[in-house]
Amino acid sequence: MERAAYEGKAKRVVSQPDGIAHIYYKDDATAFNGVRHELFEGKGTLNSQITERLFEYLAGHGIPTHHLGRVDERTLSAKWVDIIPIEAIVRYKVAGTLAKRTGLDYLTECDPPIIEMYYKRDDLGDPLINDDHVRQLGLATPMEVDWIRAMARQAADALRDLFFKAGIDLVDLKFEFGRTADGELVLADEVSPDTCRFRDLATGEILDKDLFRFDEGDLLAGYRKLLAHLDRALAADVQS
Ligand code: UDP
Repeated sequence: MERAAYEGKAKRVVSQPDGIAHIYYKDDATAFNGVRHELFEGKGTLNSQITERLFEYLAGHGIPTHHLGRVDERTLSAKWVDIIPIEAIVRYKVAGTLAKRTGLDYLTECDPPIIEMYYKRDDLGDPLINDDHVRQLGLATPMEVDWIRAMARQAADALRDLFFKAGIDLVDLKFEFGRTADGELVLADEVSPDTCRFRDLATGEILDKDLFRFDEGDLLAGYRKLLAHLDRALAADVQS
């Protein structure tokens, strides 16, 4: 089998025999479509640990994922998938580009949550798209779009509950989905503080990549704190 390697901004994906991918988490942090770039030693390991725990948690809550296991300190194994070039974003509160686009106040509640799709195309700046654009571009069938929306909502709700128990507010997050060689649709990529916004429920402290985007504080300390809170909530979840 061909051993393709995909070098992303924060991960490297290498194809292994038998439809397996090894996903190596790098220490790079980028923002604003790669305009800002810095290295944080240990970030890759932390994101691989957080992603691993969250994919395992989601699998236990009925969400099919590409995740298979751990290879080493910063590498996870997964089913090889063709990524559907749609970023599905679920927003429980207003932040980031939604605040910019609508003028709504930061952290305004979105009830029910807002689900958006973006076209994964760095050269176009990942534009916001709707179902008609997805159809025109042939990115996914209408049935797949319905499935992606339903899965994104279900997975996000499960994560929001878990993080609430961890004392953390999940503000918004991004999911990517892929098709396996067998044609199965699964949640793929990563779920980490690089792809979610987290605020400490008690203090409002930022615990995600906004620390880097807006120079809000120590990124590694924030990611470590998030993992520690997450581990406590997962331990309590197992006991209950
Ligand atoms: N997000 C992501 N990758 C992207 C764009 C967004 O992981 O290419 C995540 C981001 O971390 C946040 C959510 O999706 O948790 C909503 O992001 P937003 O549209 O506000 O854009 P951003 O502020 O990240 O540019």
